[in-house]
Amino acid sequence: MVTIKTKEEIAKLKKGGKILHDLLHFLAAEVREGVSTKYLETLARKKIEEVGATPAFLNYTPHGAARPFPAALCVSVNDVVVHGIPNENPIILKNGDIVTIDTGICFEGLYTDSAITVPVGEVSKTSELLLKATKEALNMAIKVVRDGATTGDIGIAIERVAKKYGFSPAEDLGGHGVGYSQHEDPFIPNFKMRGKGVVLKEGMVLAVEPMLNEGTSRVEFLSDGYTVVTADGKRSAHFEHTIVVTKNGAEILTL
Ligand code: MG
Ligand code: MG
Repeated sequence: MVTIKTKEEIAKLKKGGKILHDLLHFLAAEVREGVSTKYLETLARKKIEEVGATPAFLNYTPHGAARPFPAALCVSVNDVVVHGIPNENPIILKNGDIVTIDTGICFEGLYTDSAITVPVGEVSKTSELLLKATKEALNMAIKVVRDGATTGDIGIAIERVAKKYGFSPAEDLGGHGVGYSQHEDPFIPNFKMRGKGVVLKEGMVLAVEPMLNEGTSRVEFLSDGYTVVTADGKRSAHFEHTIVVTKNGAEILTL
């Protein structure tokens, strides 16, 4: 079911979104060579508690999953597209890696979701371009959002930017409604799909989150049930904001 949030709820989501933005940028500043992904998880849990929020991902069981997610963050390094688990098989970051930090919080009963990909030290030109393209895909996707546009328009905008740079949106994955819970309808495609999808209405709150792959769009799941990697081992980047649909556009809540 697609829900419409009230003005009061949107004001609360904006407060939570600001907390989430600050948390992500605090964690991004900790990213450097030699840092463990588990360390980022430990820091995040401490910070989230300090600000009076709760980690939305920790112990959340997505539809169809065999077990709850065991961490507050998804930390996805290089060829990991999404849902890397930082506290199981932690990874020590190396110079030249790219690392996505994706997290959600619940603040005053409402959920926000955001992700950024950051370089570790000096990265290759291709990785730099992948980050730039994915960020641009998110911006262009948000630009097409307004009352009366469709989820299909978002997918088209993301795929167009990916193609311009010679990259590809990760198959099947996409964004979602958010706010009352971690994942709500509608599905937000990151690629051109059949039909127009769902018509956007003022007050809908959406997590828009392009994931662009350097090579093939194909992905595979690892045996932990969560980690998604590129099928060809090439890199993937991911940027996400929680936004609210307005009459003539969109407002970013995770700023
Ligand atoms: Mg997310
Ligand atoms: Mg999300």
